[in-house]
Amino acid sequence: MPKQKRTQSEVCDLEHSNTHQHSRKKGDLSSKPQKHHWKNLRKGAKYEASTEISGHEVDPIFSGHPKSIHILSSPSPIRQALLSWYATVETNRGMPWRKPYNPNLGSKERAQRAYEVWVSEVMLQQTQVITVIPYYNTWMKKFPTVAHLAKSSVDEVNALWKGLGYYSRGGRLLDAAQIIIRDYQGKLPDNAKEMEANIPGIGRYSAGAISSIAYGERVPVLDGNVHRLLSRFLALHALPKSKATLDTLWAAATAMVKDEVNDMDHPGDINQALIELGSTICKIRNPSCSDCPLNAWCGAYNKPKRQQSVPDIEDLCTLCEPLTEEQNGVMAYPMKVKKRKARIEVDAVSVIEWRSVDDRQFLLVRRPDNGLLAGLYEFPATSLDSNHTLNGPGLALQQLLDVVEDSVTSYNEEFPRGFQREYSGASEYHMVDVVPMGNVLHTFSHIKKTYLAQWVVIEGGIKPPQLKCGPGQPELNHEECRTSRNALWLSISEITKANISTGVSKIWKLFLTMGEQESNCSVSTQ
Ligand code: SF4
Ligand SMILES: [Zn+2]
Repeated sequence: MPKQKRTQSEVCDLEHSNTHQHSRKKGDLSSKPQKHHWKNLRKGAKYEASTEISGHEVDPIFSGHPKSIHILSSPSPIRQALLSWYATVETNRGMPWRKPYNPNLGSKERAQRAYEVWVSEVMLQQTQVITVIPYYNTWMKKFPTVAHLAKSSVDEVNALWKGLGYYSRGGRLLDAAQIIIRDYQGKLPDNAKEMEANIPGIGRYSAGAISSIAYGERVPVLDGNVHRLLSRFLALHALPKSKATLDTLWAAATAMVKDEVNDMDHPGDINQALIELGSTICKIRNPSCSDCPLNAWCGAYNKPKRQQSVPDIEDLCTLCEPLTEEQNGVMAYPMKVKKRKARIEVDAVSVIEWRSVDDRQFLLVRRPDNGLLAGLYEFPATSLDSNHTLNGPGLALQQLLDVVEDSVTSYNEEFPRGFQREYSGASEYHMVDVVPMGNVLHTFSHIKKTYLAQWVVIEGGIKPPQLKCGPGQPELNHEECRTSRNALWLSISEITKANISTGVSKIWKLFLTMGEQESNCSVSTQ
């Protein structure tokens, strides 16, 4: 199963030399290309290209080439080749949201298709198809329509999203569903422009995908897969995220769905075919150019042997950065840029357990409704910076007192472990043990996080310490505060089912493993 990520990633090793011309195989589905881009290089005024960068010889044809090579001027045979290929692979990956276009659907059914495509597109952001399929199926059972979704809560949405990552996506779907019910009678707008302008979380790419697939609107898509495919196809070696580059690629994607289009060519199929080709053939690594239905037209694949003729200066491409001699294959496209280094962050995390003779409960706190891992639960965590001076027990006490009303007496490190079990102080609750658990590493897209975890045991009382009201809830009375859900005491089996992120799950697994090993603590997962 090929991996698909809707992300523009860096490509690496030079894999495929394409300095040779490719012959179309017998049975290939596309017609012959009408003309070759490279034949259009102008005679005219001479342009002396620099032939050296940083000690590497530069390929002169890519130092000075006409900008017209990046324009898709005759897309018709390319489109036909693409669609013929797509018809043979459309159902290969068993995606439940991909359905044949039905021109006879009424407006209600089309809006339902739009909802299905929308949910799948949001789930596919930064996530592989194979991972998304079971989540999509579960989601559609629980929220079969926009109306069902709009009536749910962020906790219900997060529960379904658990394990899929990038949790803010689920919350945004919920917010948008409520707007669709309120302002659009429960139907996603039937054009990309309105969708992009008024539905939160829907950008130009998603709007194009939803509207072309569900409503048949002739609007383009440009996700990471299509960006890579078109960059290679147009032999565009320019800063991948610059406005000029994106404008060039959007223009090519638009030409694919707009110019001279036969009414039988459903634009949704053209867009899905581009995405499919990018993710399964024109892959980040090891693109399968010999199987590609577009290889006869592909600029990167058909890059001609070095030649010296260059265009008139006014027709010269000013977008592309020169290629060196080493960058002579399709993998040279799109242009690589250095990734920004992920930020390093360290959090001190306390798995705080309250225990009595016959009960064990663990403290979880809810993250804010905005930002990273919005609305999910976690063990109390404190970001550590260079000024941080608190030690393990002191930090745990502060974390605990942030969310509970009852006073708790701290653990005294000077006493041997276990001594405090005999402690009898003024406070009802007291820490009896603080055990370092070790480090847990978790990488987000832009953060490398290290959790320094510790296990903190408190005893006293017949129930866990009373929880405070959360910030912004001063109007709640004492009893309501107990259920305000900004913090929770949960049993071992409840923690496993709670809305916690993958990083917090790792800490919990470490805790359970420790418990199995620490026979004197008798941790049970039952
Ligand atoms: S020929 Fe190769 S590089 Fe060109 S579009 Fe096809 S798979 Fe991509
Ligand atoms: Zn160029």
